[in-house]
Amino acid sequence: MRRDLDELVRAATARGLFLHLSTNGLALDEARIERLLAAGLNSVFVAWELGAPKDAQAARRRAAVERAVRACARQGLPCFLSVCVRRENVWNGDVEAALAAGRALGAAGVRLFAVRPSGAWLHQGDEALLDAPERARLRSLCRSGYAWLTDDAEKAAGRSCAAFARRIVYVSPYGELQPCHFFPFGFGDVRAGDLDAALDRMWSHPMLLDRYPDCALEHRGFRAEHVAPLAGGARLPLMV
Ligand code: SF4
Repeated sequence: MRRDLDELVRAATARGLFLHLSTNGLALDEARIERLLAAGLNSVFVAWELGAPKDAQAARRRAAVERAVRACARQGLPCFLSVCVRRENVWNGDVEAALAAGRALGAAGVRLFAVRPSGAWLHQGDEALLDAPERARLRSLCRSGYAWLTDDAEKAAGRSCAAFARRIVYVSPYGELQPCHFFPFGFGDVRAGDLDAALDRMWSHPMLLDRYPDCALEHRGFRAEHVAPLAGGARLPLMV
């Protein structure tokens, strides 16, 4: 986590922006939370790995995340668990366990999102992705209102993919311009010049001109054409 994060938060909130922080929670201690709150941060999303920790390192990570969520609750900073769901998690009780953990720790809620073919999961098989039965099951777990499924929240608002609809763009910590942070391709370095020109270049790229009913990254045609040729272990995003 950047040492000057609270200064960045202060600069953004001073301009009227509503700010969420997404973090793995490991560096979110009481002092840091106090500074972020004073800087005007609105809420925090802390990544929560589903399932029991598999080794000592994972157990230490889990303990640190739990401390961070409790500390946010104590200081009154709304903190949500952010949970990436694979198909197997829907049926083996992992999601219910995450909801129970969130409540026990004092988290304000739980954001569920479907695993995307991205990062470590770039070349995963279709068996990890959520289909209609998994989404229906997650919806039933969201009925209490404590958790929500991000794709559904977008659809309920009558919106499809925010990236292809050009409602969001993503700039990586290295300045790489991407439609969203899951996207394995980059379309220029915003530090190198004109942001408007980089955006024009990205939005007119043939890869972004097709339309998909849902997430392009989950669409078999898109994956076969664009994702499958990417070499495993390649540094991403690949600049195009
Ligand atoms: S391509 Fe669209 S739907 Fe898919 S992960 Fe990115 S923003 Fe979400």
